[in-house]
Amino acid sequence: MDFTVTQDHKELREAIASHCAKYPDEYWAEKDRLHEFPQDFLETFADAGFLGLALPEEYGGGGLGVTEAAIMMETIAASGGGLSACSTVHMPVFGLLPIVHHGSESLKQRFLPRAAEGRLRVSFAVTEPTAGTDMSRLSTTARKVDGGWLINGQKMWISGAQGAERLLIIARTTPREDCTKPTDGMTLFFAENDKDHVTAQEISKIGRHAVDSNMLFIDDLFVADEDVVGEVGRGFRCLLDGLNGERVLVAAECLGIGRAALRRAVDYANERIVFDRPIGMNQGVQFPLAQSLADLDAAELVMRKAAWLFDQGLPAGREANSAKLLCSTAGFNAADRAIQVHGGMGYATEYHVGRYWHEVRLLRITPIANELVLSYLAEHVLGLPRSY
Ligand SMILES: Cc1cc2nc3c(=O)[nH]c(=O)nc-3n(C[C@H](O)[C@H](O)[C@H](O)COP(=O)(O)OP(=O)(O)OC[C@H]3O[C@@H](n4cnc5c(N)ncnc54)[C@H](O)[C@@H]3O)c2cc1C
Repeated sequence: MDFTVTQDHKELREAIASHCAKYPDEYWAEKDRLHEFPQDFLETFADAGFLGLALPEEYGGGGLGVTEAAIMMETIAASGGGLSACSTVHMPVFGLLPIVHHGSESLKQRFLPRAAEGRLRVSFAVTEPTAGTDMSRLSTTARKVDGGWLINGQKMWISGAQGAERLLIIARTTPREDCTKPTDGMTLFFAENDKDHVTAQEISKIGRHAVDSNMLFIDDLFVADEDVVGEVGRGFRCLLDGLNGERVLVAAECLGIGRAALRRAVDYANERIVFDRPIGMNQGVQFPLAQSLADLDAAELVMRKAAWLFDQGLPAGREANSAKLLCSTAGFNAADRAIQVHGGMGYATEYHVGRYWHEVRLLRITPIANELVLSYLAEHVLGLPRSY
């Protein structure tokens, strides 16, 4: 087994870190405070050529894999940009893979190069208020009309929908009761975010304010036939293909936030003098930080293995799910411990650890809650009965 970091990966990490250094913690704290989308970060990141890293070369991308995308997301998060920065670039980096794998040539040519250039903002519209994690219960429908489809329904928690030009929406095209499998009969659409037919109502939330989250009310939204992604009725399958890759990227984001939190905690523990000595001299302060280092290192190994398996085209469900679980837990614990080490200052925005804590907390819930990750491992790896 060879754990040597390749020269390409080293250079990629350094290039991303050097770019992100232009956007320090204060930049992200300000965006968070103002609830302002980091458009300038998105554009300069695209100009530097990073945004399309995982998109195919023929559409202006870098043609690299999840391994490289994970290095990128981890480095962005670890710079202090946290989830705000990662959410800003997540869709172009990885969210368009259903189009790459299942989209028509026309869809690819019209949208992928623009995504790689940072000139296309897209939201991913899956979650619904009543269906919850049970996607088979989606109530948003698409009805066939001349030349396309009319979508009606509601979506919940849709990130970035205020400024998105397009929505990757899944909707029911055949009633659940008429399908052989509950997850059949759903179709994926790359719809225009037409404000005359889509109302985005922002949800007030506890963190990651730079990227808006919305309730969508969709009323007779027309989508042309050419903007259907993949086969009609097989939308769930189109989404499934990319799920393990997305789990890996989310794990990498958690890892990066955990590293940023740990770095700040160590700096503070070395600087802060109480009882005439640095607080980091106390084992009660240093042991939890050492534990976080070990936990992050262990979680990182599973994440790297999952990325490698995914890029080899090998089954990666076990490792990708474990990586998401372990990195989000280790990242959250590191952020929580970083707040504790800062004492009262952990609660002040000045030290940024509170922002990391809010952001990494979210990733224990989304894009899939950790309970459902455990259900996957219990059923598909351990062979226990399906629990839902
Ligand atoms: C800030 C934010 C941004 C988001 N961005 C997007 C986005 O851009 N696009 C999008 O489509 N969605 C988005 N989401 C939605 C997110 O993916 C969902 O919130 C998440 O998948 C959980 O679904 P839910 O909220 O419906 O929870 P529910 O399904 O209602 O579950 C609630 C709780 O019950 C648990 N639970 C449910 N069933 C079981 C079971 N069988 N066994 C054990 N536990 C169970 C869950 O684990 C969870 O803890 C976002 C959410 C947030 C908070």
